[in-house]
Amino acid sequence: MNYFSTSANAPLVSFREACIKGQAPDRGLYFPQYIPQLPVSFFQNMPGQPVPEMAMQVMQPYIGDDIPEAELYSILNETVNFTVPLLPITASIDVLEMFHGRTLAFKDLGARFMSRCLGYFVKNMQRKITVLVATSGDTGGAVADGFLGVDGVQVVILFPSGKVSKVQEKQLTSMGENVYALEVEGSFDDCQQMVKSAFMDSQLNEHLFLTSANSINIARWLPQQLFYFIAYQQWTDTENAPVIAVPSGNFGNICAGLLAMKSGLPVRHFIAACNANDTVPDFIATEVYRARQSQSTLSNAMDVGDPSNFIRILKIFNGDISALKNKLSAISISDKETADAMKELYQEYGYLADPHGAVGYLALKKYLMNNPGYKGLFAETAHPVKFFDTVEQITGAAVCMPAQVEELMKRNSFSNKMKVSFEGLKDYLISLPV
Ligand SMILES: *Cc1c(COP(=O)(O)O)cnc(C)c1O
Repeated sequence: MNYFSTSANAPLVSFREACIKGQAPDRGLYFPQYIPQLPVSFFQNMPGQPVPEMAMQVMQPYIGDDIPEAELYSILNETVNFTVPLLPITASIDVLEMFHGRTLAFKDLGARFMSRCLGYFVKNMQRKITVLVATSGDTGGAVADGFLGVDGVQVVILFPSGKVSKVQEKQLTSMGENVYALEVEGSFDDCQQMVKSAFMDSQLNEHLFLTSANSINIARWLPQQLFYFIAYQQWTDTENAPVIAVPSGNFGNICAGLLAMKSGLPVRHFIAACNANDTVPDFIATEVYRARQSQSTLSNAMDVGDPSNFIRILKIFNGDISALKNKLSAISISDKETADAMKELYQEYGYLADPHGAVGYLALKKYLMNNPGYKGLFAETAHPVKFFDTVEQITGAAVCMPAQVEELMKRNSFSNKMKVSFEGLKDYLISLPV
């Protein structure tokens, strides 16, 4: 499989090169040259099939010869090392819990796959790779955990001081080993700006082999398809394909779901569940794409005003907007509605959702009200404990700490405080072992 750039001004690359580079040199995103079609036998064998075997058949065409089969199997086996249960909420709504990975957000799956692929590719390289990433919360933890102890790779994470949740901060700062956390006295945008400057500094790039691990990397995007195949394995209504609502920010997760559908997975309809950041709902309504500044909301991992992966969604539908609208709706949910949905889920169904999942639930409920007879599922993308202050305040319920979080909160933190200064970051990076 080769990958082209969505900006159409860069050479084709293999999976390996796209994984190492992240973004194409013309600033486009990499996209597969064709979308593999799964045979009928795949779906016949699907019920009860072990996840790593199913994952092999889905992912192998995207990797080609870049990773030998046995190695890929072992990577996939380690990638989905947690359960993804589908649980009933109402007669027509199920929840797909994507958050049972080690850092309690769905991003674990993509981060684990990417870290292991990069770890494999680095074995044949002379130089150590430095993964540099700015985080507003969940990405940093998943990436740090995914790369922990991977030979030949070190990770530097920049996070805004005081602006991530307590659990998120511990996840970033307590890793040690090859993971370094920098607590920046500024905003997430400042962190991202410092990272961008680092990628453009030629002296730094001579000294270090820098790469990024943000969600536009195909090795984080593509494996997220597996969530949707695993969901379908548990979907019992063979007459009715599910409507699927996905809490969306940068649109990587839902875009992977759409890719799975294009490969043959039965899905009736996708719903992009957005918060007040309504760039895509507005596009679906007007067919005009207008990027905007992000607004802060209760579901902060979805506060994105110009979602990177939207261009990939257009590619999946070959730019045919009516075909896209036939399969994809998008709904914007306010913070007030999110809080009410959290209360409703808890009080009427005994289900404690985090703010992101609650946006998904309400988006699905609204869609099903207009489309009676359909059934669906929404993705719960983070464990409520990651946002326990908000969840407890809104629902009045106490969030039960999973044992892994209790253990985490007791660990020592290591981080370096840093002012918003690219020179400071550069000096720090140059001081790291190479
Ligand atoms: C990152 C994140 C999202 C948004 O996912 P995208 O792939 O960027 O659309 C939703 N919920 C949670 C909890 C997240 O961490």
